[in-house]
Parts: sequence; C-alpha cells; structure tokens
Amino acid sequence: MTNPLLSDWTGPFGLPPFDAIRDEDFGPAFDTALDEARAAIAAIADDPAEPSFANTIAALELAEENLERVAGVFFNLAGSDSNAAREALQRDLAPKLSAFSSEVTMNKALFTRIETLWQARSDLDLTEEEARVLELYRRMFVRAGAQLDGAEAERLKEIKSRLAVLSTEFTQNLLADERDWARALTGDELEGLPDFVVGSLRAAAEERGQDGHVLTLARSVVSPFLQFSPRRDLREIAHKAWAARGANGGATDNRAIAAEILALREERAKLLGYADFASFKLEPEMAKTPGAVRDLLMRVWKPARAKAEADAAALEEMLREDGINGPLEPWDWRYYAEKRRKVLHDLDEAALKPYLPLDGMIAAAFDVANRLFGLEFRPLDGPLYHPDARAWEVTRKGRHMAVFIGDYFARGSKRSGAWCSAFRSQRKLGAEVRPVVVNVCNFAKGDPALLSWDDARTLFHEFGHALHQILSDVTHPFISGTSVARDFVELPSQLYEHWLEVPEVLDRHARHWKTGEAMPADLRDRLLAAATYDQGFATVEYLGSALVDLAFHTGPAPADPMARQAEVLGEIGMPRAIGMRHATPHFAHVFAGDGYSAGYYSYMWSEVMDADAFAAFEEAEDPFHPEIAEKLERYILSAGGSREAEELYTAFRGRMPGVEPLLKGRGLLDVA
Ligand SMILES: [Zn+2]
Repeated sequence: MTNPLLSDWTGPFGLPPFDAIRDEDFGPAFDTALDEARAAIAAIADDPAEPSFANTIAALELAEENLERVAGVFFNLAGSDSNAAREALQRDLAPKLSAFSSEVTMNKALFTRIETLWQARSDLDLTEEEARVLELYRRMFVRAGAQLDGAEAERLKEIKSRLAVLSTEFTQNLLADERDWARALTGDELEGLPDFVVGSLRAAAEERGQDGHVLTLARSVVSPFLQFSPRRDLREIAHKAWAARGANGGATDNRAIAAEILALREERAKLLGYADFASFKLEPEMAKTPGAVRDLLMRVWKPARAKAEADAAALEEMLREDGINGPLEPWDWRYYAEKRRKVLHDLDEAALKPYLPLDGMIAAAFDVANRLFGLEFRPLDGPLYHPDARAWEVTRKGRHMAVFIGDYFARGSKRSGAWCSAFRSQRKLGAEVRPVVVNVCNFAKGDPALLSWDDARTLFHEFGHALHQILSDVTHPFISGTSVARDFVELPSQLYEHWLEVPEVLDRHARHWKTGEAMPADLRDRLLAAATYDQGFATVEYLGSALVDLAFHTGPAPADPMARQAEVLGEIGMPRAIGMRHATPHFAHVFAGDGYSAGYYSYMWSEVMDADAFAAFEEAEDPFHPEIAEKLERYILSAGGSREAEELYTAFRGRMPGVEPLLKGRGLLDVA
C-alpha cells in the first residue's frame, strides 16, 4: 500500500489526507523522504556542470520537497495533538534530522558551488530576490559551520545533534508536567468563582474523564483561577504547581537539560569564531548585538518597574484590608489586580466575556482582513487532524489565496501557548504554491466558548502571523511568509492586535452570545480605557524573562542556570510578588528549540515597530486607510524576507521608530 504521506495529495487545495494518515506511516515516510532529499542534494553537489543560480540555489530550494511535506504534517501534529507514538517518533527523529541538516551544510562540494556563485554574484545577472536568496544561503552555510574542517567540523555536528535531542526532551518533560498535575476541587472550593471559571474547571474534568471540577495547569484554566479564586491557600497551591513545571525532580526535571544546552550553545558559538552565543545569534537580526538588546530592555525596565512597584503597594493595601499580614505574594497579584480593576475601571472580566464568543472574534479577525486587504473566508468541509480543528478557504476577488485552519481549544495532547505554523508555505518557484496555514490556541472549551480579553488578543495576534503567510508573494520558499529576522517576525502579529481595540470593530463583532446585542458603549469605553491597566506587571514579568535569556547567552554559559537566574533578577531588582513570565525550567521559547534563544527580547523589539506602525493609521484618522493598508501589504505582509527588515520597515513608514510609542502604548510614559 502506498504511504499516504508520500502519495499525491489530490484533495481540495492539496490538503494532506488527514483521514488516511496513520501514526505508523510517519517513520517510513521520513526514511523515504530523507533518502530522496539526500539523493537530490548529492546530485546538486556533484553536478558536472558549472554552478549556476538555477542548478545550485534554485535546485536546493526544491530538493527537500517531500521531506518538507512530511515534516509539515508531523511537527504540526506533534505540537497540537501528541500521543505516545508521536512523542517516541519525535525523540527518534530529532538526531536524524539534525544529522541530515549537518550533512547538507557541511557538504564541501556544495558549499564550494555556493561560494563560487557568491564571489561571481555581480556578473550573474540575478534579480534582486535571487541575489538576496544567494546571500542568505551562503550566510546559513557559513553560520552552520561550512568553513570548518576536521575535528572542529565533527564536534559541531555532535553538538547540533545533542542539542536536538535535549530540546525534544525539554519539550516533552514540560508537556508531561503540565499534563500530570491536577487537583480535584470540592464544592466549597468553588465558592466565589464566576460561572465561566467553574465551567472551564468542569470541562477540564471532562477532558480527563472525571466527574466534578478539576484544576489543571493549562494556562486557560489556571490563569483565571488565580485571578478569581478568593481562596488564598488554593491560589498558593496552584501558583506553586504552575511555577514548578519542569522543576519537580525526577525524570521530567529540566534544570540539568537547560545547563547542558547553554554550555553546548556557547561551545558552538566559539567554534564558529564568536565571543558568545548571543553575539552569534544576534548577528543576522535587526538588533545585531547583545548591547543593543540590553539598551532597549533597560530603557523600558526602569519605568515598568516603577509602575509595578506603585501597583504592588496598592495591592498590598487591599491584602491588609482582607486582614492578611505579611507581604504580597506572587499568588496574590492576579487576584487583587482583578479586584482593583473593578474599582478603578469598573471593569469586570466576567461581565465582558459574554460579549467575546469565539465565533464572534474569529469573524472580527476575518472582517478586519477583509476591510484592509480584501480577503474573503469560506468554511471548508473535509477531514482535518482533530475534530476541534476548522478550516476556511481564503480568496481575494475570486482568486484562491490560502487555506486557513483554526485549532482553538486546549487539550492535554497540545502543548501550551499559542502559535501559527504552516503545513505548506507560499512560493512561485517551480509552480505557484499557495499556503496552508494553521493557528493553534489553548482557549477553554465552553458552550459556547467565551474568550477573555487576553484570549481575544491572542486570537488576533496569531491571525496576524497567519496573514504574513496568506499574503506572502515571493518566488523562493527560503524567504516566504514569516521567514524573516526573528525580531521582525512579531511585527505583523502584534500590529494586528491593535485592530481589536478599534471601537467600530468591537461594535460590530463583540456581541452578546445569547442576545446578539452589541457590547454596551460604556462597557466598551471602560474596556479601552483600561487597556494599559496592570501593564507594569505584564512588562516586568516579560522583561524578567527577556533579561535572563540574554544573560544566559552573553559571556560564559552558567554552570547553574537557576543560580544565574536568581542573580540576574537580584541585579535588576525584580519585585518579589512578580515571577518571570517563563522561568528557566519551563522557558520553552529558549530551550525547546533555538528559535527564541537570546531572542525572547524580539517581542519588545517588534513592539517598538508595531506601536509606530499603527500610529500611521491613527495619524490618518482611519484604521482602514486603503493606501496605508496597501503599503503594509506591499512592503511587509507580502514581502517575506526578500529584503533586510530595516529596509522593509523604512519603505513602509519612511523612517525607523523610537521607543516612545511603545512606552505610551503601555501607559508607562507618565512614570518614566
Ligand atoms: Zn507571535
């Protein structure tokens, strides 16, 4: 029988045949696809013809097509719907894929061809995009160690392979810790909780096949519990369990893994001639150097901490009023901040949720994309990989643009957080290929599912990433969609969040799930007025993580990351009642892969630009200004990595931004 992963995908829009794929198909499909890719790479490297862009770079672009197809399906499923078989295969694949990628980048004959083209680039009559892709290929090879020989080359290969194994273990340990912890709650332990929190605790129990109500470590369950439970003892239990993920001792403990990863990264950077891993990692980013990153983070840190300290004093006052002595603790912050929000802004998260049904917010995200970019969305039937996932066809003026998949609900088989990825990316090389994009979130299930304001922002955020793929219009897959500098990639997503706060978007789409009535204007205005509420906390918990990440990768790797983490937090004066948004043992951004290592700062770097970019629409006094939207698509959303990020931004806005719009957007200017 033919392997469905390797057969032609003849279903609508070439979607993977999800209903035909069985877990046991993945292993053999990977083996075959790897063999094919090896043969294709060898044919390019050993081609007797003189190197040309077409027979080298363009050929490389298409050499791993089946491998990319199989990996696209597998890694999406491994993240959003894992099981024991998929986890085992993931562990098995990590070193195999790493070895293959090392083979390619260490292939001397291949690198010689690329280097020959690079040296002759001005005589090759390349298009602007081809020149850019050639430059990026050469940079990728050099940074992967193509210029190393002998023992050094061998050692680099070992390091990469070991890192791949460690990051898979890190992820799986975290998933296990999040899945394994649960606490059944008795009736009196539910007292004082709003209905939607009780509902999500019931749904969490159901998902585990249990009766009653169960507190779990899914963010969509534990976070509202910490916000609303008047039971300080239970909040402490929940917060400690949440904070201990990856640090529970035993087989799933991530601390030693983190230390080994940091040491190997430093060794890798040194082999390649860099002072430390941060210098290596930041070189191709907009930031360029660890110093530039630290400058930005510290400029924001000071006003953010001042704001958080002032807020902490106010919250501690409320703690006293409840008759509790002793300091404000991390498990108190969300609870008292929620109470204070009601006092200051007369805004109750529970009163808001009925106006934020999931389907209404999906419709809002689609409608904004329609008004800005003319995109249309039509529900698509057909089997997907999980019953909770839904698909839409995206078109513009009748032309097929993409398939968009939304997989919104939390479940035990899904890793935490929210993300956007692609089963297939856009390209024109060879043949025109349109993308298949997926947004994965962890919203609490409900009937109907009602979002928090934070959830709604997350939905818009991930949809902004999706648009970066859907609107992509480049020739080469290497620079398609979100294949841009790490500190630029959050610009489209964070920029899109701004449209959720446009009053007419809320008026049209934030409608009561039962009555269909629009959110009352005074509730809407109070919601928008409260937009900067508790931003001291949010900024501090984020910056704590970003500064620890940067410190881990600057200078020698710490032998004891937990001690180094404590040292960094001490140096910056982290407020005691605020934890890091992600502490080391569960800092998946940094340890579950290489993506955001020495790169967690990227969100703030991008925010400097998104605040400034949305200001372009505000200055025009039209959030849907057609010419600005057209520029946004032309220079940013369709352009992928076809030019340096700084050039793209400057083309859109006419200049680079300063940090002020960000401080203003977070309400931190008044205390700065
Ligand atoms: Zn993002």
